[in-house]
Amino acid sequence: MSVSPGAGTRLDPWFGSYAARTHGMKASETRALFAVANRPEVVSLAGGMPNIAGLPLEIIAKITADLIATEGTVALQYGNGQGSPILRERTTEVMALEGIAVHPDDVVVTTGSQQALDLVTRIFVDPGDVIVAEAPSYVGALSVFRAYQADVIHVAMDANGLIPEALAETLASCRAAARKVKFLYTVPTYHNPAGVSLTQPRREQVLEICRRAGVLVVEDNPYGLLGFDGRVFPALRSLDSDGVVYLGTFSKTFAPGYRVGWAAAPHAIREKLVLASESAILCPSHASQLSVCAYMDACDWQGQIGQYRALYRERRDAMVGSLAEMMPECSWNVPAGGFYTWVRLPEGIDARTMLPRATTALVAYVSGSAFYADGQGADHMRLSFCYPTPERIHEGIRRLAGVVSKELELVQMFGPEGSTTADDVQVPSPDVL
Ligand code: PMP
Repeated sequence: MSVSPGAGTRLDPWFGSYAARTHGMKASETRALFAVANRPEVVSLAGGMPNIAGLPLEIIAKITADLIATEGTVALQYGNGQGSPILRERTTEVMALEGIAVHPDDVVVTTGSQQALDLVTRIFVDPGDVIVAEAPSYVGALSVFRAYQADVIHVAMDANGLIPEALAETLASCRAAARKVKFLYTVPTYHNPAGVSLTQPRREQVLEICRRAGVLVVEDNPYGLLGFDGRVFPALRSLDSDGVVYLGTFSKTFAPGYRVGWAAAPHAIREKLVLASESAILCPSHASQLSVCAYMDACDWQGQIGQYRALYRERRDAMVGSLAEMMPECSWNVPAGGFYTWVRLPEGIDARTMLPRATTALVAYVSGSAFYADGQGADHMRLSFCYPTPERIHEGIRRLAGVVSKELELVQMFGPEGSTTADDVQVPSPDVL
């Protein structure tokens, strides 16, 4: 039987059949660059790939083989929709490091914290509802929010993280306009992409403001244990167990390939998350969960986190040292943890239009505009230092400095528009969140 494609197009006969929300989906600016940034000759300061080269692969190979040999028929079977009880127990040990006391019953295991973001949004957000988020915000969260047709309102940050007064004003103006704010989405510690952390007094203030306004807080915390001087902030969830949904992950403290993350939520929300997850995936990968447990049993997982901290600190130093040496016309913060530096470009330079010229010069970054729901942010770029070696970081900044100074010449000659041509706006095609 032939199918009538309805209001299709030549390129996509099914165009007219997609749900309204599908039309709002677009490749993230980072993903669009993937092909280019991944070429070996390109120094990619774009991606957020953890550097897992130092993992004890031989031990992991052995424990994986033992797991399958001894518990294979369990590990390779469907598991529990909420996640394996042993893994949920282990997540509570990780969270305890940030002051969180939570019962394993209130943990839902997810396929990376990315799926937890999807589930939280799915159970709370109707089209047109407001999600309040930092300016800038994690690009992967924005793409989830867009898929559920949420209206994201950004709130300003400074060197101390989200500004409480700005948050209070935003919530008040939403209330005055009778807009439903479903939650505050925040990465309070070693922020992606801004690199800053919410100070301790502000943590209390932000929670108090949200409590008063009756707004749930979604705390996304992949980098909390990756402070370079070993500093661990108290998680928001440790200060408020009723008003915070906490998202954790093994992606940055162990390995992203297992795709194991989790949400710790107040009891009623936890039940809804389990239902939503079961309908999406039945259950998270049992093999992955048991592998993570086996790793935590057999290896010094906290020692591994210490190694990651040292590795990323060295790379952060390479990044900020190279910037100071070669890009004095830009300004940046010196992140105390995490993967990213947030760099302000000189007046008039647009990070989006400069990107094709950067990739031609064999260096890639992510334009700041990827981290806003409303297209602002092109006066910044996110540079990640997690993956390339210090030497490659230095080389990448050398190349980028050349591009920025040429761009500056164009801007000085022709004004901000002078450096832009229609072709330039065609972003070549990276991932990575
Ligand atoms: N949140 C933030 C802030 C992130 O940076 C990332 C990954 N880059 C994620 C969530 C998702 O990580 P995963 O799904 O691997 O746990």
